[in-house]
Amino acid sequence: MKLDRALDLMREVPDFPRPGVVFRDLTPVFADPDALRAVVDGLQGGIDPDTQVVAAIESRGFLLGAALGYGWGYGVVPLRKPGKLPAVAHRVSYALEYGEATLELPAEAVLPGQRVVVVDDVLATGGTAAAACELVEAAGGVVTGVSVVLEIPGLGGRERLGGRRVDALLAV
Ligand code: AMP
Repeated sequence: MKLDRALDLMREVPDFPRPGVVFRDLTPVFADPDALRAVVDGLQGGIDPDTQVVAAIESRGFLLGAALGYGWGYGVVPLRKPGKLPAVAHRVSYALEYGEATLELPAEAVLPGQRVVVVDDVLATGGTAAAACELVEAAGGVVTGVSVVLEIPGLGGRERLGGRRVDALLAV
């Protein structure tokens, strides 16, 4: 399946999870085997060839990260919400529009010098992806880029990631 047809399956849900937000729901894309393959292969096309590990952001990033790892030969490291990991290497808290969120990196998952791509479904303000990059770098890893299916431009996501490479299959 062509990538644009796969991305057409994405659903826009107005006012979720709160009024004023248009939630970009990739569930129908993941549920379609051909669309899932098109999206995963599309992401792979934007990943630096020297990359060794995918750091996947909970929870929709896990689906993409596992598929990339299996299909293309990367190790996969889950970046988790707090309280889920038995052994934590590093923890980063960051501001959300309302409140605060935290991500944790598992112990002994990213090794110093390893080349790591951060993967998630959507890049909005970039706070989540920036925290993910900080976690990888705190462990001594080298972030080769941030790969997402969808970037929502105008929210400062790319800027928040500094000079890091950002690859998005679609920007709307
Ligand atoms: P941010 O930290 O603002 O870049 O938000 C990115 C994280 O929140 C990702 O893990 C996304 O899954 C989720 N997210 C933020 N905004 C949206 C949106 N409009 N639609 C779907 N997911 C979103």
